[in-house]
Amino acid sequence: MNTVKEDIVIAGGGLLGRLLAWRLLLGGRRVTLFEAGALEPSPAAAHVAAGMIAPLSEAAATERKIYDMGMASLPLWQKWIAQLNAAAGGEGEGGVFFQNTGSLAVAHPGDSGDLAQFERDLRLRLGGEEKNFRRIAQEELRRLEPDIAPHFSRAILLAKEANVDNRALLAALLAQIRALGGRCVAHTSVTVNDGTAAVNGEPLRCRWTVDCRGFGAAGDDQNLRGVRGEVLRVRCREVRLRRPLRLMHPRYQLYIAPRPGGRFVVGATEIESADKSPLSVQSALELCSALYTVNPAFAEARIEEAGVGLRPAFRDNLPRVRLRPGFAAANGLYRHGFLVAPVVVEEIVRHIKAGETA
Ligand SMILES: Cc1cc2nc3c(=O)[nH]c(=O)nc-3n(C[C@H](O)[C@H](O)[C@H](O)COP(=O)(O)OP(=O)(O)OC[C@H]3O[C@@H](n4cnc5c(N)ncnc54)[C@H](O)[C@@H]3O)c2cc1C
Repeated sequence: MNTVKEDIVIAGGGLLGRLLAWRLLLGGRRVTLFEAGALEPSPAAAHVAAGMIAPLSEAAATERKIYDMGMASLPLWQKWIAQLNAAAGGEGEGGVFFQNTGSLAVAHPGDSGDLAQFERDLRLRLGGEEKNFRRIAQEELRRLEPDIAPHFSRAILLAKEANVDNRALLAALLAQIRALGGRCVAHTSVTVNDGTAAVNGEPLRCRWTVDCRGFGAAGDDQNLRGVRGEVLRVRCREVRLRRPLRLMHPRYQLYIAPRPGGRFVVGATEIESADKSPLSVQSALELCSALYTVNPAFAEARIEEAGVGLRPAFRDNLPRVRLRPGFAAANGLYRHGFLVAPVVVEEIVRHIKAGETA
């Protein structure tokens, strides 16, 4: 029986769907979350992603709006992760790893022109925000990150950037949604037509429908495309990084994000294709060489996983939120899902609250 009489139905149990369900449940709403695939492990882009919350790094290549949304999201992440961890009994016991010690942009000596250009782009786009990033010399770099190879002679410290363990986050959100009485329905694909959600052609009767299907909405929206991203997850006991590193690279900005237990996420390629086939040899070589460049001891790292995901993106690579009475949709978070999700979620929560009091 698929027809339900609900308060709020959310289609899509990825990053936005889970965050939104949790925030609405905390606000006393009744929520049913439908997910087309499994809930664990999640098929969402958010499961493959690296979880970088990097407003400055992203600002060099995108619109100011993304930077502003990211800066507004950072304090929300800090508060929300603390709330999730408190509910789960502390970070050490199944909590979510979250780091906001900034990140470093570095370049291999051969790519130092890219680092200089990155700095120029930051200054151009972020006039007035210079306090949040600064060039550092080798001595300070050594002090901050003793394990990176000596040929990295300068870097840019991006002071406000953060990094969250995306998988621990998705798991913690699911646990909290369930603990707060949210209904989670897996393996159930939802269609959304003119603001109405349906399962197997049967409309879902509810007060509010929220569409958070990510790339799954591409069948209904010709403007949505998938942008392929590939990451490696490696384990290496020999190298310690205290914060994410972003490597300037002629084709993409690759990053290495540390995770607890000697683990690192290395990503991500960016390829204009909705192909979800396994990691290519070329991408594997590029991701591995990023590691090796940072410290040759990474040669002994063990590759635990090669992941491929599709970033949901519109033509302008900017997120889109649609709000109507009884309905909300958010999509096109592209490579900025973790960066902007909290402000997108807050906007939808406000819309639903306002709709009740109107
Ligand atoms: C390799 C890679 C690295 C990334 N790294 C970062 C990063 O470091 N920082 C950052 O900010 N962003 C990053 N991103 C982007 C980020 O993951 C996405 O922007 C974000 O996950 C989008 O959130 P979403 O909820 O819209 O979509 P998703 O997280 O993809 O969730 C959508 C969910 O909806 C479900 N669904 C689809 N169709 C239906 C249906 N018909 N019915 C029910 N459910 C459905 C899907 O199965 C999925 O679970 C990365 C993405 C990739 C692929």
